[in-house]
Amino acid sequence: MNVQAGQRPDGESPGEGTRQRRAVVDYALQRRARLAEVYAGRASLHDVCDAHPYLLRAAAFHGQLSDVSCPVCRKEQLSEVHYVYGDALKAMSGQAKAPRELADMAQRLREFTVYVVEVCRSCRWNHLTMSFVMGQGSARPSRRRAATE
Ligand SMILES: [Zn+2]
Repeated sequence: MNVQAGQRPDGESPGEGTRQRRAVVDYALQRRARLAEVYAGRASLHDVCDAHPYLLRAAAFHGQLSDVSCPVCRKEQLSEVHYVYGDALKAMSGQAKAPRELADMAQRLREFTVYVVEVCRSCRWNHLTMSFVMGQGSARPSRRRAATE
C-alpha cells in the first residue's frame, strides 16, 4: 500500500486557500505513531476511537469529506473538521467552521489559528492532522513604523 502523507487531494485550487495559510504544523508523524500503536495492539480501539459527540456533530454539519478512508475501520471516508481559535474571534473561538467560512474569515480578521481534526463517523477514530494560522496578519511591520508622523 502506498500511503503518502501530506499529499494534496486533486481538484482543490492550490492558489487562494493555501496562500493564506501560514505557520503550518503537520501532525502526520504523531498520527502515524498513534496508528502504529493501534496496529501493534499497544493502544486499544477504546482509547483512540473516542470522538466526542460534539466532534461527531461538527463532522456532520461542518466537516469536509476527505478522500482518505478511515485507517482503523476502513468503513468510510474520514471527515475533516476545522476548529478556529484566537482572540480576534471573540465568542466564535473554539467553534467548528466549514472551509468556505474560513476563507471568508481570513479576509475580515487579523489572525486566528485553525486546527484540522480528522474523524471517522463510523468507528469514531479521531486525530489532529494539521494546524495553521490564517488572517490578514500584521504584515509589513517594520516599514510602517518608520512612516509615523
Ligand atoms: Zn473508522
